[in-house]
Amino acid sequence: MKAFDSTQLYFNRAADQIDLTENMRRLLLIPKREVQVQVAIERDNGEIATYIGYRVQHDDARGPMKGGLRFHPDVDMDEVRALAALMTWKTAVVDLPYGGAKGGMAIDPRDFSVRELELLTRKFVDGIHDLVGPDVDIPAPDMGTNADVMAWFMNQYAKYHGFSPACVTGKPVELYGLPGREEATGRGVGILTYKLLGRLGRKPQNTTVALQGFGNVGSHTSKFLHEAGYKLVAIGDAGGAFYKPEGLDVPGMLKYALAHKGNLAGYPDAPMIDGPALLAVDCDVLIPAALGGVITSQNAESIRAKVIIEAANAPIYPDADDILHARGVTILPDILANAGGVTASYFEWVQNRQHYRWDLNRVRQELDHILTRSFETVWEVATERKVSLRTAAYIVGIGRVGRATVLGGIA
Ligand code: NAD
Repeated sequence: MKAFDSTQLYFNRAADQIDLTENMRRLLLIPKREVQVQVAIERDNGEIATYIGYRVQHDDARGPMKGGLRFHPDVDMDEVRALAALMTWKTAVVDLPYGGAKGGMAIDPRDFSVRELELLTRKFVDGIHDLVGPDVDIPAPDMGTNADVMAWFMNQYAKYHGFSPACVTGKPVELYGLPGREEATGRGVGILTYKLLGRLGRKPQNTTVALQGFGNVGSHTSKFLHEAGYKLVAIGDAGGAFYKPEGLDVPGMLKYALAHKGNLAGYPDAPMIDGPALLAVDCDVLIPAALGGVITSQNAESIRAKVIIEAANAPIYPDADDILHARGVTILPDILANAGGVTASYFEWVQNRQHYRWDLNRVRQELDHILTRSFETVWEVATERKVSLRTAAYIVGIGRVGRATVLGGIA
């Protein structure tokens, strides 16, 4: 099943619950605009290389469209389309005044020098600058992109449109960025894990966690959960997975990754296991925080965790979701679980537009407030309607986008 088909399936399950008409379903599902641009650069060896940059703007009924920019070899139009739709439901679930978008390029950033990455980013902006902007579509970091990429983006955009720091979020703190933006997605995953486990009657000290992915999201999630008293028994990234039933040394792993370009490969203080085996280790909570589509009908039966927190976007295929649901596994869906990032991006955008600086305490407090409120809303809908948290989150998101669409007028 393709990525967009999966999000459509989840959408339709929720749409059935609220008796959404066929016309409205089509209106909400078909993206508003999809673009594909040529991105050509001269590489360090003098060769001319050409790539394709994608941007999908899914829906703007509730405000300017918002979504990350991904640099990863698997990026294609279908994936970007699916992720753009997810952003529409995500911004609605946490009630931010935004719609949804996504973009990216099918490249492995590790294959490029810093100069080449800067050129790629600037050329991409050249291709899409008149289709994005602070009131239209605001990109942010995602897999393979970071604050540096956002700074280049802002600088290139300014060459066409003048000073406009709100055209992109996730910028360096020294360059109109927000203190706490970088940690926000992982921190949000931590906050929501804590809320959910509290509802399920689980205490941190009696709860074991396995975490896949140790990049921006995974590393901050691990830090938050470790500090909250949870026992992390397995952590892995693209370079290897490590398993220690008595608990891993999270601060030590963070330090090791920091000293090794963000990678865990070669970490000496815990036994290694196979990457895919991490998903099936004995633990209470599993947190996929790397790629999409890692839990499929092939491995769903082997998962032992009773709770899964979707820190990554779309880590579970619908057929696997059905298997896990039937087995009584509670899943906190991506459109809520990793919404801390876009929520902090919203704070950054507000800060840029007001030219007023927020401090870290305010960012953390407001993040906690918005995520807690959103979690309670979704939990209530799930309890009232006796549906999964995923369907409940989609009901909340689709309901809000649907109402805004009707109120705005369709004719
Ligand atoms: P990142 O590039 O910083 O980190 C990705 C991590 O995944 C790295 O540790 C990498 O080694 C690991 N990884 C890659 N391939 C792997 C594999 N085959 N097996 C195990 N680990 C593997 O990316 P990120 O920003 O942390 O994003 C991770 C996920 O979270 C993505 O799905 C992204 O869409 C989602 N997300 C990110 C944000 C954000 O603010 N960064 C917000 C919302 C959602």
